[in-house]
This record gives sequence, structure tokens and C-alpha cells, in this order.
Amino acid sequence: MVDPIPSATIAPGRVALTGCCPRCGKGRLFAGVLRLAPRCSVCGLDYDTFNVGDGAASFLILIVGAIVTGLAMWLELSRSPPWYVHALLWVPLSLALTLGLSRIAKGLLVALEYRHEARQGRL
Ligand SMILES: [Zn+2]
Repeated sequence: MVDPIPSATIAPGRVALTGCCPRCGKGRLFAGVLRLAPRCSVCGLDYDTFNVGDGAASFLILIVGAIVTGLAMWLELSRSPPWYVHALLWVPLSLALTLGLSRIAKGLLVALEYRHEARQGRL
């Protein structure tokens, strides 16, 4: 089944922040923390045709890595704390930023794929 061309798409930023359907804005995009639902429960948009792959993870590695590395370098050069302070700060911060931003980035990529009709299985 081919989805109709969207008459009004939801802003990608809204989809990313709220996890709503990119077509109707009412259904849920995610079935779990990071797993996409098979389809929208309201409008029936098939989410299986979206393939965000590792795109979100690739961006997050660069963004989180730059943030954490910059903060660690700043702390080391300004305060020179013991090594365990770095371990206690940067490991949890890296995990929190990665998990927190993964859902947002995945939602954004799905919304952009929908907006630009860049889905698999469509000719
Ligand atoms: Zn929907």
C-alpha cells in the first residue's frame, strides 16, 4: 500500500521532541524507548518503510563526543581533579546524553524522511 502524499506534514522538530506521527501528529512514533512502532495507530502510516539506520548514532557519537571531550579538557586544565572525578562525571554524562538524544535524533530523521519522501520501497 502506498501512502498518499502528505497534505500537511508535522514540523520535524515537533516530531523529534514529542515522538508523534510525522503525518497526523496524533499517533505515537515509538513502541519502546528507541524502537519504532510498526505503524501509526491513528492514521495508519507504515513506519516500517522508514530506514534511519545508524544515521542518528553517527551524529550522536560526534556531538556527544565533542561535548564530553570539551568539558573534560576544560575541567582538567582548570582544576586538575583526580582521575576518578573524570570517571564519575563523564561516563554517566555520556550515557545520559547518548540515550536522551537518541530518541530525539531518530524522531527527527524519520520526520525528515517522511517530509522528503525518502523511504524504502518507493519508486
Ligand atoms: Zn499518524
